[in-house]
Amino acid sequence: MKEVKSDVVIIGAGPAGAVAGALLAKKGWRVSIVEREEFPRFSIGESLLAQCMESLEKADMLEAVKSAGFQFKNGAAFEWDGARTAFDFREKFTPGCGTAFQVPRAKFDKILADEAERQGVKVYYRHSIVSADLSENDVKLIVEHKGENLAFHARFVLDASGFGRVLPRLLDLNRPSEFPLRESVFTHVEDNIVDSNFDRDKILITVHPSERDIWYWLIPFTDGRASIGVVGEKEKIAVWGEEPEQVLKGAIASAPALEKTLCNAKFDTNIQRIRGYSSDVTKLAGPGFALLGNAGEFLDPVFSSGVTIAMKSSELATECLHRQLSGETVDWDKEFVEPLKLGVEVFKTYVKAWYDGRFQDVIFYQTDQKEIKSMICSILAGYAWDKKNPFVAAAERRLNTLVEICTAG
Ligand code: FAD
Repeated sequence: MKEVKSDVVIIGAGPAGAVAGALLAKKGWRVSIVEREEFPRFSIGESLLAQCMESLEKADMLEAVKSAGFQFKNGAAFEWDGARTAFDFREKFTPGCGTAFQVPRAKFDKILADEAERQGVKVYYRHSIVSADLSENDVKLIVEHKGENLAFHARFVLDASGFGRVLPRLLDLNRPSEFPLRESVFTHVEDNIVDSNFDRDKILITVHPSERDIWYWLIPFTDGRASIGVVGEKEKIAVWGEEPEQVLKGAIASAPALEKTLCNAKFDTNIQRIRGYSSDVTKLAGPGFALLGNAGEFLDPVFSSGVTIAMKSSELATECLHRQLSGETVDWDKEFVEPLKLGVEVFKTYVKAWYDGRFQDVIFYQTDQKEIKSMICSILAGYAWDKKNPFVAAAERRLNTLVEICTAG
């Protein structure tokens, strides 16, 4: 059997895997990425948060992303039954980058993977994991390529396989998410938007007029195209029909402002459905492995936090791994899991409060309290790890106090 030897093997060349690969290669480690698909390939998750620009900069990928001509993004706009509000990320509380991009992921992910290769990472496309034999400092993965098996040897494996969830499956680490089973139906359109209320520099989140736990995204790209999707519990969005096309078109037709914005849109692309994407695991790291991005936990698409969390996990894990490979002892729970969970739990608090309506009350409340708005804006911009922000440090308590003020006012 052909053998490939590296210091670290990464499963998956999505954002988590590419950023982790580059960060390790910069420190001098030999990294192989095993990727099941050929790139470019479609992926969902197109609206980026400002916080992840910082990860891209650390991985020396920001210039390549900036020069790719993606749609500029400076914030998020919300619409609910005639009420409109917007958050400009540049007005956030936390210092750091205040803008991002909206990206067709096929092109974006290819750029990141190419950038990782430029920095010395070897990406093995169309290679798929068959089995994993893991112990401290000695990892062996059997990988299938064109009907043949290869053995990948390394000292550590990072699983960045996203919804493929390779190690959670092989090591029996999966556990149900706290979130109910939701689904999303989405497509790309030629948008032909002329609505002057629509700001192409922001993602538009529309809440269904009467079912507040159903919402839509509208993510504009540069070339007159946009990504449109609806999210809700399976039974609820089934009222519009069985087929994805019926669901998406029925859902849009029942949200008048969105329907008006999209009145000239040309639906020219396959409409897709993804179900039950929220996931969790019993542990994020163990002897010889750590889980990155969606291979670990995935919450919900509502705040576009997925790519940001994925890249943050890569930053934290590669710092630990570099030290471990250099001979230091690393406490993965304390130095990787706990710091990562800080931001993930903050997002979780706001996701729960979005679906039960509390956070929507805050978002649609018209306030002239600039400081509070800037702290909420920080979270929407992805800065969920900034403990100086009271809405991060004491997320649930602060949020509930704010909800009381908003609902009383
Ligand atoms: P991925 O991007 O999924 O990459 C994983 C890679 O691993 C893939 O290339 C895959 O081919 C490869 N792989 C899988 N199995 C194997 C295997 N067996 N062997 C080898 N390789 C394998 N996030 C945002 O930031 N913004 C958004 O607007 C947003 N919208 C979303 C909307 C929906 C409906 C959903 C469900 C998610 C959304 N997300 C969004 C989340 C986002 O899609 C993910 O969080 C993000 O892609 C995670 O990156 P990753 O690198 O962990 O995984």
